[in-house]
Amino acid sequence: MMSKAAGPLPSLFTIATLGSHSALQILKGAKDEGFHTLAVVTPHNERLYKSFAFVDEVIVIPRYGDFPKLESELNRRKLILVPHGSFVAYLSLDEHKRMRTPYFGNKAVLDWEADRMRQREWLTRAGLRMPRQFTKADEIDRPVIVKLYGAHGGKGYLFVKNADDFAARASHLVEQRYIIQEYVLGVPVYIHYFYSPLTGKLEIMSMDRRYESNVDSLGRIPLASQEGWDISPSYVVIGNQPISLRESLLAEAFEMGEAVVRTSRELCPPRGLFGAFCLETIVTPESQFFLMEISARIVAGTNLFIDGSPYSYLNYDEPMSTGRRIAREIKNALLSNSLDLVLDQSSRLRLDAGATPDTAAVAVPGPGVPTN
Ligand code: AMP
Ligand code: AMP
Repeated sequence: MMSKAAGPLPSLFTIATLGSHSALQILKGAKDEGFHTLAVVTPHNERLYKSFAFVDEVIVIPRYGDFPKLESELNRRKLILVPHGSFVAYLSLDEHKRMRTPYFGNKAVLDWEADRMRQREWLTRAGLRMPRQFTKADEIDRPVIVKLYGAHGGKGYLFVKNADDFAARASHLVEQRYIIQEYVLGVPVYIHYFYSPLTGKLEIMSMDRRYESNVDSLGRIPLASQEGWDISPSYVVIGNQPISLRESLLAEAFEMGEAVVRTSRELCPPRGLFGAFCLETIVTPESQFFLMEISARIVAGTNLFIDGSPYSYLNYDEPMSTGRRIAREIKNALLSNSLDLVLDQSSRLRLDAGATPDTAAVAVPGPGVPTN
């Protein structure tokens, strides 16, 4: 255990996030690590977030999209933002990047994540297997999934059986941007990772499989009864279920995480991707992982594991959610005077007047950082 005298105490700092998505997990984790916590919520959510003892403070804004208007108020405090899916869903990429509030993570990665073609380049350069992509409708020679740009939580995805089916059902999409991807039949496994810029270590935190409506319900109706009933599968995420992976697949899952982090340093040097991220895969009957997407921050499937997962239990003797792991990283950075290693470079946080954070990379095995 390192000396607490090495830097400011977490209690002097606020961890803040938008009240939605995985905010409860993030703020509970922040409280457990000794931080002051702040939720920025819409009127609809105010009573809910105030009902939790670990939420110290609530600021109400009319809509999530108004969040950037709080910037100067937030910047007056010793406050660190922890982003989650709602930051991407409700703020534009520009707004997101323009904010100067201290921010856990590297915003440079957003450019590589937000654009599906660049994302594909990233994952392919990392050596990961991806579903085949079709650029022209007449090339479609197998079942495909048509994914609209900017779709959230699988909404608006279309399963298309062949080229004729595409012409019949997807021609109305011409005006919109979308990608056509080979439909991979298998189990969707979402792997949640954490990469520590302080220790250079990667951890698998947890895993989930998504539960999607209505595709996951089709098996409840016998095929014979589906005949003549015009049902199209849809992929709207409704919830998440825990899953543990065959242990013989775990090494590959770990290597995929390492490869993505390594490649990200080439794409957005020098720091690349750090903190929480998720690889969204489909695993086929041949036990092959196909990568659908990468999410460069905490994902909602981690909410299943607020009190830890079987995987985090292997690394920690205490409940360690991804939200708490983020707070632990920020705490370790504070205690080792290396806060800038975990914040985006746009950040303007000053520890105290005249003190600038140490820019040297110091690997500090702080409290609870696994030794594996
Ligand atoms: P929300 O605040 O619930 O609207 O979520 C913000 C963004 O995160 C949206 O794009 C959602 O589709 C996505 N999201 C929320 N919950 C989940 C979940 N359980 N699994 C995957 N994505 C989610
Ligand atoms: P995504 O938005 O990429 O996370 O995908 C949402 C859901 O759509 C996934 O959980 C899958 O159920 C489905 N999906 C996406 N891409 C594919 C694919 N290439 N093959 C089969 N299903 C897919």
